[in-house]
Amino acid sequence: MTSPHPIISVVGSLNVDLVTRTARVPEAGETLTSESFDIGFGGKGANQAVACARLSRTQEQARRGEPGKVEVRMVGAVGDDPFADDFLKSLQKDGLNTAKVQKLPNQKTGVAVIIVESHTGENRILFSPGANYAVPATNLLQDDTSVVLFQLELPMEVVLCNMKVARERGVQIILNPAPAVSLPDDAYQGLDHLIVNETEAAMLSGISNPTSWNDVATVFVRRGVRNVIITLGAEGVYYQTAQRYARSQAAKVLPARKVKVVDTTAAGDTFVGAYAVAVAQSTATSSSAFEIDAAIELANCAASETVQKKGAQSAIPWIDEVRGP
Ligand code: ADP
Repeated sequence: MTSPHPIISVVGSLNVDLVTRTARVPEAGETLTSESFDIGFGGKGANQAVACARLSRTQEQARRGEPGKVEVRMVGAVGDDPFADDFLKSLQKDGLNTAKVQKLPNQKTGVAVIIVESHTGENRILFSPGANYAVPATNLLQDDTSVVLFQLELPMEVVLCNMKVARERGVQIILNPAPAVSLPDDAYQGLDHLIVNETEAAMLSGISNPTSWNDVATVFVRRGVRNVIITLGAEGVYYQTAQRYARSQAAKVLPARKVKVVDTTAAGDTFVGAYAVAVAQSTATSSSAFEIDAAIELANCAASETVQKKGAQSAIPWIDEVRGP
């Protein structure tokens, strides 16, 4: 599908993170005073949508309320509680269109209650999916969508139903199967873009201790994926395309940028968001073919900015903060 004004729909989760830091975790029946408490907006869907929005316009454009190169729509659900409005306002501040976020009556917004033990940095997380698990398995995509981005934090039926709709319409599909939950084989058939980290790659390919990323990528290409991207943390990115595979060409590796790492939270979400923006821009005219090398380069650079900052959404850069290769 070509559109002069590309639209990414992110079909995914919205969660509020309630984070307390403590010197030690309380025993059963014990009450302790925490060192700090913070509320953050997250969920893989919302994080990747924020990444798409920030990586398609500058901070100055955002400040002036100008649209970016790509319109980004969040598709999902919140509850009818006080978190909902603050969450949506925060997404709108980043330039996201939230008209397709349903406010479900008698549901709570998804919440992750996180206890961080300060001296070890260890997390204990209790996740309540709430409204995320009440998203209906119906067509959630508007007709003008150019690219749809999925993770697996919504019910599987919702993802599979909307993948089917996207396929029928010739919309580019990007799947980031996190958390790694096994998918039916036909979900991979004709899938345009699959982005996995090392853990997801191993689990979903069925190769539990991979010695060759080439073998792992080959599994996904043979299942019908056109572009397979395996992010390797500090090692960078490994990627293969069905076209290269058919010509017996080797996969490519792009090393991670050498930067001072502070916190790697949301590195993967930033990578996926930047890649999605590149895919969306390639749909703008029929003449602009998708250049996977450039998309991977942009995503690798953007994610390297995220790892230099603390936090999740707060660490995701705007396009003018991304230094080139
Ligand atoms: P996830 O957060 O999903 O586990 P990864 O850890 O594989 O994803 O990281 C995604 C991308 O973020 C990497 O491919 C790379 O581009 C970037 N990245 C991650 N860790 C580092 C690092 N230590 N230094 C530089 N870039 C990094």
